[in-house]
Amino acid sequence: MQESIRKMPKIVLHLHLDGSLRPETVQQWLQEKGHTCDLEEVKRNLMVEKDCRSLNEYLQKFDLPAQVLQNKEHIKTATYELFEDLKKQGVIYAEVRFAPMKHTQEGLTCDEVVASAIEGMNMAKEKCKIDGSLILCCMRGDRVLDNKQVVDSAKKFLGRGVSSIDLAGAEALFPTKDYEEIFNEANIKGIPFTIHAGEADGPESIKDALRFGAKRIGHGVRCIEDEELIKTLVTTEIPLEICPISNLQTQAIQGKHPIEELYKEGILVTISPDNDTVSNTNIIEEYEWILQNTELTEKDLIQMNINAARFAFTTPVKKAELIAKIQEYQNKENKEFIK
Ligand SMILES: [Zn+2]
Repeated sequence: MQESIRKMPKIVLHLHLDGSLRPETVQQWLQEKGHTCDLEEVKRNLMVEKDCRSLNEYLQKFDLPAQVLQNKEHIKTATYELFEDLKKQGVIYAEVRFAPMKHTQEGLTCDEVVASAIEGMNMAKEKCKIDGSLILCCMRGDRVLDNKQVVDSAKKFLGRGVSSIDLAGAEALFPTKDYEEIFNEANIKGIPFTIHAGEADGPESIKDALRFGAKRIGHGVRCIEDEELIKTLVTTEIPLEICPISNLQTQAIQGKHPIEELYKEGILVTISPDNDTVSNTNIIEEYEWILQNTELTEKDLIQMNINAARFAFTTPVKKAELIAKIQEYQNKENKEFIK
């Protein structure tokens, strides 16, 4: 690993809590419930193989996390541990997302799930000196009533741990256009949002997300199929939360990943790992993948972090602080380079 990548102050905007659990912790929870399982078996249930090229295989890895994240303590611990891990990777600010309704199967309310995650995040903020917020995911295929509960929880905790909402799930089966009502409500309530679009579905999905008022697009890589859409994303300054390794695993992209082309077209590219555990990755590995597989450089990665800071769902003051930290690093690195 290049030391400079580890030291670079990094911002992560697209990371799923349930896809980023520590296998050791999941093993411990299973053992407490009386299951005997070795760590390798737990890992096989949580992580895709290195050569994963199927969305089905990818999605199966979220079954076990949903089973174990059904009480306050586990949700709190999982959130704390993820922020702790991010700090070790040199992340200064992270927006961690999850679908609260997935965790209401054994009696918790949506608000209780969210409050538990906030508690874990706040503990990490205090102990680990990392900053961040939570994004609540509405789910494709869920009942409108359930998704409205997520919007209500987001409104309740907005600015107090929650920064925004998202739409996640099987994009090809449940098209973005069917979710206008939810995002109308978010607009009325003043909740900003990002939407997973242009991952398993094409450019139309991204256009629908933009029409609803999405401020960022999760993945969005399939905008590469539509030149006009690329221009729109550039002129309207809508960043993409690109997760290269996940895109290859789920086959959102077949063949060469378009990240370099999109960046050079002027799109506001940001980089995230999507799911640290399921994808068997982290933000450092994503950066290394980019440096090894494209012509992009560390300077470009710094620019992508500035993009992420500018479009994070946070206050102008916090954005300015994040940008200052990145620029401070950039100036120091340049000096070292000149020496
Ligand atoms: Zn995602």
